[in-house]
Amino acid sequence: MKKLLVFTVLILIILSGCGPDNENKEESRQIFAMDTIMTLTAYGTQSEEAVDAAVAEIYRLEDLLSATDPESEVSQINGKAGEVTRVSREVSDLLESALEISSLTDGAFDITIAPVLKLWGFPSGEYRIPGPDELAEAMTCVGYEKVRTADEEVTLLPGMGIDLGGIAKGYTGDCVLNTLSQFGITSALINLGGNVQAVGTKPDGGLWNIAVRDPEEDGSIGILAVSDTAVITSGGYERYFEGGDGVRYHHIIDPGTGYPADSGLASVTIVCGRGVIGDSLSTALFVMGLDSAIDYWRTNGGFEAVFIMETGDIYITRGLGESFSLSSGYESRSLTVIDS
Ligand code: AMP
Ligand code: MG
Repeated sequence: MKKLLVFTVLILIILSGCGPDNENKEESRQIFAMDTIMTLTAYGTQSEEAVDAAVAEIYRLEDLLSATDPESEVSQINGKAGEVTRVSREVSDLLESALEISSLTDGAFDITIAPVLKLWGFPSGEYRIPGPDELAEAMTCVGYEKVRTADEEVTLLPGMGIDLGGIAKGYTGDCVLNTLSQFGITSALINLGGNVQAVGTKPDGGLWNIAVRDPEEDGSIGILAVSDTAVITSGGYERYFEGGDGVRYHHIIDPGTGYPADSGLASVTIVCGRGVIGDSLSTALFVMGLDSAIDYWRTNGGFEAVFIMETGDIYITRGLGESFSLSSGYESRSLTVIDS
């Protein structure tokens, strides 16, 4: 009888979800959104509800920020170039953040690159190499300083357009973290197609190991052991097409030239607290090239970075000295710590 009672109580504990493991209950989900595969893993008593809500949040933001969905707010802004467009507070704030980074990076990050991206066939996938005249004409419509924003209103000049592809996933990561925290999640890892955001530590208290991809081939060149941070990479390898001339044309455009950035960098990984900053900076620093990127880090700080050159050489900023290690097979790579 006593045994039966103990057994019944045990079953009740398991069913009511109060077991000792429930605190770290894992919920993992993979979805396709924003043109990429995303993986969300959260631990906690409400992990399932949290991941459900996070997925809904991602789809909500995709609908809002997509460059290809004609219903998105971004498409509405672009469709009304030359007129004043009313936008949500959220999009208005995100545009302000994007314009601020543009100004800080001297235009290396510029969401008004959209007309030029379109000529190259990004993001539609109808790739082509634009002629010099059409490129020069599209370049006259590029310039973040021409965007007017005021109190939930945006005005673009005729011919202009915006593309939030360089910042949207980072912003989405920040929103997802916010959603997860509403469900008491203190341990999670979200990977929004190369934009990784770690919440707290692993459930056992250990650091998260985030792989930094080898830009040349599948596999990781190094590992970052981190907690509570965003790890966001931009690289030419993420999206490109091969021109008939044998050249690879990738999706990160130098707003100074209208051509894919050719700075000698193969990838830039930013480690910082906020996704929205990490995402926009990874794109901007990729455009700038190593020397200007280091100058930017020295002047502004607030983040750490891994730079991988086309030569294969690796540079990391001082703050990653302890957390970055080369993957096996890459031990002979040149690795330089940028001190100050
Ligand atoms: P990311 O992978 O974060 O570096 O973002 C690259 C995406 O940002 C591209 O696919 C474009 O949608 C957009 N983009 C390309 N060049 C720039 C640029 N110079 N500034 C801002 N966004 C850009
Ligand atoms: Mg980016």
